[in-house]
Amino acid sequence: MRKLGLFPCLLLVAAAPPQNPPSAPDARLREIVAPVSGAQMKRTVEKLVSFGTRHTLSSQTDPNRGIGAALNWTEGQFRSFGLPTERPCDTFTGTRMPTPTRICDMIAIQRGTERPNDVVIITGHVDSRVTDPLNAKDDAPGANDDGSGTAAVIEAARVLSKHKFPGTIIYAALSGEEQGLYGGKVLAAYAKAQGWNVVANLNNDIIGNSCGSDGVCNDKLVRVFSEGPRWQGHEQLAKQLRSLGGENDAPSRNISRYLDSLADRLNIGLDVMQVWRNDRFGRGGDHTEFLNAGYPAVRLSVAVENYNWQHQDLRTENGIKYGDMIENMDFPYLEKITKLNVAALAGIASAPPPPEPTVEGGVSTNTRIGWHAMAGASSYVIRWRRTDANQWQEQRTQLNTLCPSIATGRGGEVRGDPMLISCDVTLDGVRVDDWVFGVSSVGADGFESPVASAVPGGAFRPYVAPPPEPVK
Ligand SMILES: [Zn+2]
Repeated sequence: MRKLGLFPCLLLVAAAPPQNPPSAPDARLREIVAPVSGAQMKRTVEKLVSFGTRHTLSSQTDPNRGIGAALNWTEGQFRSFGLPTERPCDTFTGTRMPTPTRICDMIAIQRGTERPNDVVIITGHVDSRVTDPLNAKDDAPGANDDGSGTAAVIEAARVLSKHKFPGTIIYAALSGEEQGLYGGKVLAAYAKAQGWNVVANLNNDIIGNSCGSDGVCNDKLVRVFSEGPRWQGHEQLAKQLRSLGGENDAPSRNISRYLDSLADRLNIGLDVMQVWRNDRFGRGGDHTEFLNAGYPAVRLSVAVENYNWQHQDLRTENGIKYGDMIENMDFPYLEKITKLNVAALAGIASAPPPPEPTVEGGVSTNTRIGWHAMAGASSYVIRWRRTDANQWQEQRTQLNTLCPSIATGRGGEVRGDPMLISCDVTLDGVRVDDWVFGVSSVGADGFESPVASAVPGGAFRPYVAPPPEPVK
């Protein structure tokens, strides 16, 4: 969220030279997102609604009605953009799936030109439901939940497929969400099987309405939900977190900060409200399955939900219309949220992944931050903030060529494990106790990755527990 007037020093900077022109990467991102079209997404949602129901237990073979027809149509859309597709599937049974049911996702792969194994994933769920979660027969338009997210996925593919990126972008329409996040499970397992380095999953679920049932409206804010301490490995990490801090610095939270900062710079009339919990109160979404697998993931959702329009049989009661109908949607708002997604996908796929910084400086007046050099990075930005600040406050840039090991071809003057540290910066007079530190990678064309915090579990790769202590 934009904060004005918080730091007096900013005013001094602004008073000196006239305002800097937008930096090249941001200008590029603004160009890339310009063609994102709410009108195009309206046509997509109309088509999705035309399948009658997209319930996970509906027909997988009917050409016109049901989940199968919707997945096939989505595949056709991806292919029309020239993207190769895959349909990862698995079979599940559960409380909302009384008989073994095959759950399939439809994904399009835009392979990166330089770092194809570094992957950013946008997801929405194509399945829909009404009041009874097992009702696969009645019309379940699912216009907003989650036709909106699916439309964003398809629109991102349409717009971004015209460009090339160093990293890979995955566009994914998931199914089985309403029955128990099964599509998320399928795709997270698929990512693991492919050995992808998943930098981020942006999950879009309910992103296309701007008014609640109480008349509260907001089309200028999008909520981004992110988990606190990383869930994967949390038991092993708990002791370290208590000793070293990092409760607000799991990689997902840094994806949230990245989106917040990006929205401020894009000038699309949309601000991010960072919500520091994994999802809405007591509720869930597909990104949770990515988190369970160790991949950074956030959920984007509207500022104001309307509960009369979610998971409801289509009906009118006491003059109130219930049901997830297209007429309830706000497509200019959906366009803005999709632009934020598209910019984030392009930005993350353009930058090298963040490094895995470590920090030392206990009982010292200085702090030293070290990290591995990252392929494709020409510089790094060291960022730090007070422990109670929600955004990075201070920064310093380190050119790759100044990293000791790179400059000298050997380990440089490093303490600690030389295998783990090839770049390092010492911040004189900065006390490690009072700040949180992180490092991002910057590619040759200036695109900066999300920041990885130098905290336990701050690395973007899945957490791997250390081997147990040998028994003595
Ligand atoms: Zn949903």
